[in-house]
Amino acid sequence: MELSIIDSLKAGGKKLTKARKAILAVLEKNALPITVAEVHAGLVKARTNVDLVTVYRNLAMLQELGLVNAVGFHEGQMRYEVVHGRAHHHHIQCRGCGKIIDLMLCPLKKLTKLIEEQTRFSVDGHALEFFGWCPQCR
Ligand SMILES: [Zn+2]
Ligand SMILES: [Zn+2]
Ligand SMILES: [Zn+2]
Repeated sequence: MELSIIDSLKAGGKKLTKARKAILAVLEKNALPITVAEVHAGLVKARTNVDLVTVYRNLAMLQELGLVNAVGFHEGQMRYEVVHGRAHHHHIQCRGCGKIIDLMLCPLKKLTKLIEEQTRFSVDGHALEFFGWCPQCR
C-alpha cells in the first residue's frame, strides 16, 4: 500500500508543518512543474506567509523525502511537481513559448538495465526532458 503524504513525512521524521502542507497544496493544484517563484506566489495567494528561503528549504526537504520531483529544463532554475499519486513520467517544453506537456511514458527500462550491466551501478532514478517547438511556435 502506498503511504500517504502525512505518513511519508512521519516516516522521514519530519512534521507536516503549515508551510510544507501549504507548499504541497500549491503543487497539487498544478498539473505541471512550476518554479519556486510560482510556488511562492501560490502561497501568497493562499495567505500563507512564507519567505522564499523557506520555500527553497522545504522544497529540498520534500524532494529528499521523495514527495516532490525537481525538473530541469535548462532555464537557469528548477521546477517542481508533486510525486504522490502521479505516475512516473517525463516532460517536453516548447523553446518558443515555454509551454510544458506531461509525457505519460518512460522508454528507459532497457537502457537502465544496459547501464547497470556496463557500470555495475544500481540505478534508482533518471532525468529526461525533451525540448522542441509546439504547433503554435513552429
Ligand atoms: Zn510554443
Ligand atoms: Zn509532470
Ligand atoms: Zn522515466
